[in-house]
Amino acid sequence: MSFLDLPEGLSERIIQCNSTYTVRFGVRLRGRMYSFVGWRSVHSEHCEPVKGGIRYASNADAEEVEALAALMTLKCSLVDVPFGGSKGALKIDPREWSPQELERITRRFTQELNKRGLIGPGLNVPAPDIGTGEREMAWMMDEYRRANPTDVINARACVTGKPLSKGGIAGRTEATGRGVQFAIQSFLRDHRTKGLKGRRDLNSASVIVQGFGNVGYHAAKFLSEEDAARVTIVAERDGYVHNPDGLAIERLKEHQKRTGSILGFDGARSFGGDMSGIEQSCDALIPAAMENAIHAENAERIKAHLIIEAANGPVTFEADQILRSRGITILPDLYVNAGGVVVSYFEWVKNLTHIPFGLMERRRRERRNHTIAAALERMTGKEFPADIRDEFLEGGSEIDLVRSGLEDVMRGTWARIADLMEERPELRDYRTAAYVASIRQIADAYEAIGI
Ligand code: GLU
Repeated sequence: MSFLDLPEGLSERIIQCNSTYTVRFGVRLRGRMYSFVGWRSVHSEHCEPVKGGIRYASNADAEEVEALAALMTLKCSLVDVPFGGSKGALKIDPREWSPQELERITRRFTQELNKRGLIGPGLNVPAPDIGTGEREMAWMMDEYRRANPTDVINARACVTGKPLSKGGIAGRTEATGRGVQFAIQSFLRDHRTKGLKGRRDLNSASVIVQGFGNVGYHAAKFLSEEDAARVTIVAERDGYVHNPDGLAIERLKEHQKRTGSILGFDGARSFGGDMSGIEQSCDALIPAAMENAIHAENAERIKAHLIIEAANGPVTFEADQILRSRGITILPDLYVNAGGVVVSYFEWVKNLTHIPFGLMERRRRERRNHTIAAALERMTGKEFPADIRDEFLEGGSEIDLVRSGLEDVMRGTWARIADLMEERPELRDYRTAAYVASIRQIADAYEAIGI
């Protein structure tokens, strides 16, 4: 069934990946030569530069990279950030290599990408993904800079997700998890939705989080600390931990960093080797790990009422049909996890403008707030309440501005999805509505440029 009335041939053009580059290179390590294989796929160049993460994973392959690049195109279009979609991967288990070795491998990979025009501020802008983070982005940026000495001014914008000291932006690391929180809040607060069994917040609701990497950890942290959710289960590749009263997320992260696993955490019961964590009873389930976590075999056993796709592609097509037929609401990945690329966009803009967000207005805003506070005190003869004074006077730090920008994008995007569902009830589920909203914009862009 077609929900979009596209001109003939345009849907094929939009679906196809424009190019996928396979790179094989050798690095001399541990006294011998090791060969590595990686990919960078460019899905759509209707908008440039193209954007998307680079993952380091031993099970990566070209097909997966292409699918994820397509998802990046859809994601960027849905949240209205001006990028086409791209994705990259290196087939490697980063835990098997020391930081020095990883640095050499990453620098070689970057040289290869650079040779093919697959990295550059106006061409293709990588970011962190599974198995990569600030550290890898800093190496990539540095390598790009060395290879392009004439592009010094904008070189920092060649990747996002960098450390703050290397041109990163406050709030990029937490961004995807923060976006997950804004997505859930937007859904629950919208009275056109059925909410969580009719409830409009997460207060005391039980939540299962699958994956305790950057995204899962931040989502669990914000939802438990700020929305009073009970994160009862955190599941990982080696089993799960359970505490019906809610896990202490910060302590669990410390335990994982110290021991390399969530298992054995003293604030919960551990279920080592047990993959059924996501099938336990809960109100909401947040898959925040790899693709295909919920598939035809386990979809029937999922007990959550609401699934929030923090990972890319965590629900297979068959599972999606099963879950929907069981009346389970799914908030789709292209909306839920878009926070990462939204804040990447802010970082890229910051690098290109060469001026930190808020620099020009911060002091002026502070002075104005002081004047307003003084005027209120004079008019009322009372002192400004001490508990909100600091927050009121503050001119807006970078992290405040980033969070406010991200919240605005997530809320605005939700409103577009929900409005579309209201206008067109035949769309039935949020994934279809998000796809329609996103593809419509891409189609308009293609039509406008006449290709
Ligand atoms: N890897 C993240 C994603 O899948 C972020 C991409 C980016 O910031 O470019 O959305």
